[in-house]
Amino acid sequence: MKEVSKSETAKREENILAFWKERKIFEKSLQKDAPKGEYVFYDGPPFATGLPHYGHLVASVIKDVVPRYWTMRGYRVPRVWGWDCHGLPIENIVEKELGFKHKKEIKEYGIAKFNEFCRSRVLTYASEWEKIIPRIGRWADMEHAYRTMDKPFMESVWWVFKQLYDKGLVYEDYRSMHICPRCETTLSQQEVSEGYKDVKDISVTVKFELVDEPGTYFLAWTTTPWTLPGNVALAVGAEVTYVKVKIPEGFAWLAKDRVVTIVPEAEILEERKGQELAGIKYKPLFDYYAKDESLKNRENGWKVYTADFITTEAGTGIAHEAPAFGSDDWELAKKESLPFVQHVNMDGTFKKEVTDFSGRDVKPIDDPQATDVLIIKYLAHNGLLLSKEKIEHSYPHCWRCDTPLLNYATSSWFVSVTKLKENLLENAKNINWSPAHIKEGRFGDWLSGARDWSISRQRFWASVIPIWRCEKCKKLKVFGSAAELEEASGKKVNDLHKHIVDEISFACACGGVMKRVPDVLDTWFDSGSMPYGERHYPFENTEKFKRVFPAQFIAEGLDQTRAWFYYLHVLAGALFNRNAFQNVIVNGIVLAEDGKKMSKKLNNYPDPMEVVDRYGADALRFYLLASPVMQAENLSFSEKGVNEVARKNIGRLGNVLAFYQMYADDTKRGTASTHVLDRWILARLGQLVRESTRGFEKYQLDTATRPIVLFIDDLSVWYLRRSRERFKEGGDDAEAARATLRHVLYTLSLIVAPSMPFFAEHLFQSAKEEGDPESVHLAEWPASAQKGFFAQLFGKKDSILSDMANARAIVTQALEARDKAGIKVRQPLQKLTVNSKQLTGKGREGLLQLIKDEVNVKEVEVRNSFALDTNITPKLREEGAVRDAVRLVQDARKAARMRPGEHGEVSITVSQEDRLVIGQRLEAIGKQTNTTISLL
Ligand SMILES: [Zn+2]
Ligand SMILES: [Zn+2]
Repeated sequence: MKEVSKSETAKREENILAFWKERKIFEKSLQKDAPKGEYVFYDGPPFATGLPHYGHLVASVIKDVVPRYWTMRGYRVPRVWGWDCHGLPIENIVEKELGFKHKKEIKEYGIAKFNEFCRSRVLTYASEWEKIIPRIGRWADMEHAYRTMDKPFMESVWWVFKQLYDKGLVYEDYRSMHICPRCETTLSQQEVSEGYKDVKDISVTVKFELVDEPGTYFLAWTTTPWTLPGNVALAVGAEVTYVKVKIPEGFAWLAKDRVVTIVPEAEILEERKGQELAGIKYKPLFDYYAKDESLKNRENGWKVYTADFITTEAGTGIAHEAPAFGSDDWELAKKESLPFVQHVNMDGTFKKEVTDFSGRDVKPIDDPQATDVLIIKYLAHNGLLLSKEKIEHSYPHCWRCDTPLLNYATSSWFVSVTKLKENLLENAKNINWSPAHIKEGRFGDWLSGARDWSISRQRFWASVIPIWRCEKCKKLKVFGSAAELEEASGKKVNDLHKHIVDEISFACACGGVMKRVPDVLDTWFDSGSMPYGERHYPFENTEKFKRVFPAQFIAEGLDQTRAWFYYLHVLAGALFNRNAFQNVIVNGIVLAEDGKKMSKKLNNYPDPMEVVDRYGADALRFYLLASPVMQAENLSFSEKGVNEVARKNIGRLGNVLAFYQMYADDTKRGTASTHVLDRWILARLGQLVRESTRGFEKYQLDTATRPIVLFIDDLSVWYLRRSRERFKEGGDDAEAARATLRHVLYTLSLIVAPSMPFFAEHLFQSAKEEGDPESVHLAEWPASAQKGFFAQLFGKKDSILSDMANARAIVTQALEARDKAGIKVRQPLQKLTVNSKQLTGKGREGLLQLIKDEVNVKEVEVRNSFALDTNITPKLREEGAVRDAVRLVQDARKAARMRPGEHGEVSITVSQEDRLVIGQRLEAIGKQTNTTISLL
């Protein structure tokens, strides 16, 4: 990290951090009376394998703002940090560190050693997180963080698994699914959906020659030429019309609808329905498997079958079937008892019997088309290729290592989500989403389309599948706790990781040996088990658990809709038929300013901690909170934007506070002033409280924070500017003004406490009185107290807000009229006539005075029109000249940095026209400005 000189704001924030720490304010906020009881928040744990990025910070800010608000509303909001410790992210880092390229190197190295290495690296950056997270103002108990790799957490995961198993929701199946050949593991639907990218590939139209009609071919089209050695059948649609056409090398069959595209000029010789083609035999393209007489179901291979998944929208209307490499293919193979040929290893290389290509990667990561090209050459050489074509299509890649995935038939354990779906959809109705459209949109759609969840991974550093299987009778034993395993095995179990529990076997009743099934669990099973794992439920905290489930609030980024949010929902639905959370805020993605992904390599974004050092954490927080990421939309991060927040909101508010402090005395907070400006700002404050409260109640943080910007603007640009004179010593209503401003600043400190916790503290400390809490974060939210108060003070129909808005509109209109007439504001004018309908409330006199001062007119007349009298009489002209002269003197004093009480001397020049007038009043002007003036 670069050394950035810290701004005054950043230094002040650091002092406030020290104050909170020293006074244990966070701890006190958890210990203080909570009349409303506990507010339950679940924290989605991050990995500590890298430094926190903007995505983490956005989520962290949200996870801080909401608990602070509910604490102020009288709840106790425990916030225990968690660490996600398992899975591919950490395994991949360790593999790189050890220089491993293949999974087998891990086995050679030793799984125990590998896992212990993972354990030692998992919290590499934890201490950085422990610095950064508090610095952005997030309160969390990081000292007692739960870790998904600790035995209590892992034991709860076993319990969850066994519950599901006992309910008949876990099963093993052999089916076609996506695998990563580099990581050599299966992946879930969600993991696959994360990794789609547009890639270039080659599609081929291949000729399969009929056994009984040499020179006649079936044409089939594929985008994965590497699967062709695994072909065992062709599929046609029973009701689809196929035609035989003449091609240069003989004759070919394909769907009638596809002739135009595939062989446009060809002459049609014969027409048949798909079902009439069923059963016709063709010659295999490759003989690696067809010649193997021991191959099961060999007699059913290399024939045409009908299938209901055939369309004529692409290809030839005839599908090449490789049952080990596609789910439709696999289903057809099961139905028709096709031979099963798996010509590729799980590491993505051709098996040795595929003699022409053995050992080659089917999709080499550095040149994904290379192997397909070799296959195509082979086909062309053997007269089996009709045509080839470059295509671009969307293809899934490993979310972790970016290797192209393969569709691959293998054995896996599943959670039967489809069995639960009705309940899951029903329970989802109870969840409040922010933004609301995610509920029926991204989440609802994903839930409606949910398939069974593949939970086995053929990896190492993870929670394990707690199933033991008898080698002899194949009976299963599922464990839901360490104690159960100890009892069955007679061994002490202190750790539930793979390398430990795989060593534990025991005798089956049949005399065979029970050994653990080798797979580990999808890490999302850990994350989804977090409500139980965090509290070691049900082994501990059984009473407490009832109070802390479901969560009232969770938050994460949009990508978690199909991940953490979904898995929490699935497991809670499976265990308790409930939703796991009631309210959820989904944030969008933070991009670099140029709209591209933030990239360390491109260096296209500022380090978050540098931003904090420059503008303060409050500015960063507020910038994010008022931004589109709160609507789950993308945000192009702009440092200028943070700077603007710092200047416009925090800077201006700082100026208001400095002004207040300049005149502050013992005057207590008060709301009794009848001055129109005080009444107006108090009404605005009441409006702000209502708007902000409404936003927080709906979990719409942008709605809760944006009105603060407008309020600060009104407070500084209108209220304070128009009130300056009132504050001065000896003013008629100085005390009323001070009392009002103190009340406003105090209340404002409460309203900004969740969003700008540092500045709120600064403000609170200046405006608080004896008997107030020691920190703003131990104070109560103003909402309930204010509601009745404002109604009582002004009556329900008080029109002060609209009247002031009208008065300001009149001022704007009048200043525009001045501008048009070319008369500067310093030149007094006689009269402004305004429309009576615009000013009706009881504060009318005060408002007219405001308008008079602001527009610089002698009188404001209320009639049914608007007019500015722009006639400058000699008397008005003189007044203007005097004001100009005063301004000249004041500017000169300012330039010489003179203090108000200090006497000065200055020479000024004025126009010939005004010389006489100014000369006569030189003494008066001198007195007013405390300066001896001479005319040049
Ligand atoms: Zn991978
Ligand atoms: Zn047995």
